[in-house]
Amino acid sequence: MSRPDCIFCKIVRGELPATVVNRAEGFLAIEDINPKADVHVLVIPERHIDTFRDIGELSEGEAKRMLDFVAETAKAAGLEEYRLMIFCGAGAGQTVFHLHWHVLDGRFRGLPQ
Ligand code: 5GP
Ligand code: ZN
Repeated sequence: MSRPDCIFCKIVRGELPATVVNRAEGFLAIEDINPKADVHVLVIPERHIDTFRDIGELSEGEAKRMLDFVAETAKAAGLEEYRLMIFCGAGAGQTVFHLHWHVLDGRFRGLPQ
């Protein structure tokens, strides 16, 4: 379900601008607005999911397609070696409560927060 006040839902709905670097059915990859590496992309499911804790809301098929899309997005960004991060919960540094993967090149400049 789309949430009216969620930043990433607004991007998915086209109500906020973003630099889209990749798309697949149900998923979007955008450039992070405050990059912590030369390549810093966020992979976002179009469907609102608060945190990784709620990953069970995705079907097995969606979960597999999301992982494939993360790998495809890194490749499309020209990365062979990279870091993937998910912050789960405010105490772990999550600031946007719509599930997203950070895809960062190997020389990231500290934890994105
Ligand atoms: P978190 O700390 O929740 O894992 O990461 C949220 C990320 O979203 C941060 O790296 C932050 O720079 C990025 N971000 C926050 N607001 C926006 C926005 O409006 N557009 C884009 N493209 N990225 C955003
Ligand atoms: Zn959302």
